[in-house]
Amino acid sequence: MRNSRTTLIRPEALAESVSTPVVAPLSPSVVYASSSPDELDDQYEGRAEGFTYAREGHPNAAALARRIDAMEGMTGGIVTGSGMSAVAAVLLGLCKTGDHVIGGDQLYGRSLRMMKEDLPRIGVTTTLATPTDAAAIRAAIRPETRLILVEAVSNPTLRVADLEGIAKVAKEAGVLLVVDNTFTTPRALRPVDLGADIVIHSVTKLLAGHSDVTLGWVAAKDPEVNTRLRVFAVTAGLTASPFDCWLAERGLATFPLRFDRAQETAARLADFLAETGARVLYPGRADHPEHDRARALLGGNYCNMVTFHIEGGRAAANAFVRAADGIAFAPTLGDVGTTLSHPATSSHRALPPEDRAKLGLSEGSFRVSVGLEEPEALLAVFGRALAAARG
Ligand SMILES: *Cc1c(COP(=O)(O)O)cnc(C)c1O
Repeated sequence: MRNSRTTLIRPEALAESVSTPVVAPLSPSVVYASSSPDELDDQYEGRAEGFTYAREGHPNAAALARRIDAMEGMTGGIVTGSGMSAVAAVLLGLCKTGDHVIGGDQLYGRSLRMMKEDLPRIGVTTTLATPTDAAAIRAAIRPETRLILVEAVSNPTLRVADLEGIAKVAKEAGVLLVVDNTFTTPRALRPVDLGADIVIHSVTKLLAGHSDVTLGWVAAKDPEVNTRLRVFAVTAGLTASPFDCWLAERGLATFPLRFDRAQETAARLADFLAETGARVLYPGRADHPEHDRARALLGGNYCNMVTFHIEGGRAAANAFVRAADGIAFAPTLGDVGTTLSHPATSSHRALPPEDRAKLGLSEGSFRVSVGLEEPEALLAVFGRALAAARG
């Protein structure tokens, strides 16, 4: 006789196996069935571990979160649907009307927008200050300041924050220090070791590394703050898809190798561009304004981002991009392939040219996210593109 269950929709459990898969299985299930109301009660009350509903958590998010936690030296981190949802979890999940927030003046574009537009709309005031100078951050602190959000290396100007100084200022003032570690990654910097209270990643970038997932991660050192972040992320629906988490975990397996290779090539590219007469910003070069700080802060890891400037305005910029054969002209970073971005028409297009000039950016400014190409072949492409730009 056939099992009566075969007439129902849901299948029996998967075939049992005494051996275990070496790759984390993909678990797309949105819901998890419990055996009884008592068991469900135990789960909700924390007496038993288990999943209930994917927005609240699922095995692939948990597996990815634990790996990033270990890299950052933190516990209980939360995987979110994007880097910006991790930023939103912090800014919207922890601040209330009347609070004040300090941000680095060159944060990621959407983080800046949230500081300038969205927080003020809900009655949270904001001040932007340069994180290269801890005194500027200290001067911005008010009695109602709730948190400080900075990135260790700014985009695309690659200025290096005085993180140790800012951590001291935050501690003295009893203000949460939040560090977006996307550019620097735990390979170069573990913000929690320097006194950061909350760490954020756009996992989309170097950690996942293949430009095929959009994800974020956030963790707070204080378990109570961490729980507030988790509850807000779940309530606001900021949580991540199992497939994205699964892909990111696969990407993470090669992250240290990718990072080391990309930063080695980045150092060579920076020197090569400087030798051809372009103005170059790379924290690993002695002519970078915060080279010594970068060496101390990043332990000799200067990362994979290089910014350079060429003469000749938009016409030269167009010629450069058209001649940079095989290099994606795309505003992202941390991909296996080298990508090129042009701040004047992407990240910084909303700024008037005078304001861009104050940041040292012109129509001839480019940011390179160095990937895994053969270094010689990559330098050759840049050489040809520079020649094309100079006509
Ligand atoms: C890309 C980026 C973000 C946003 O991440 P998404 O995954 O694109 O939402 C935040 N901070 C920094 C520094 C970034 O580079």
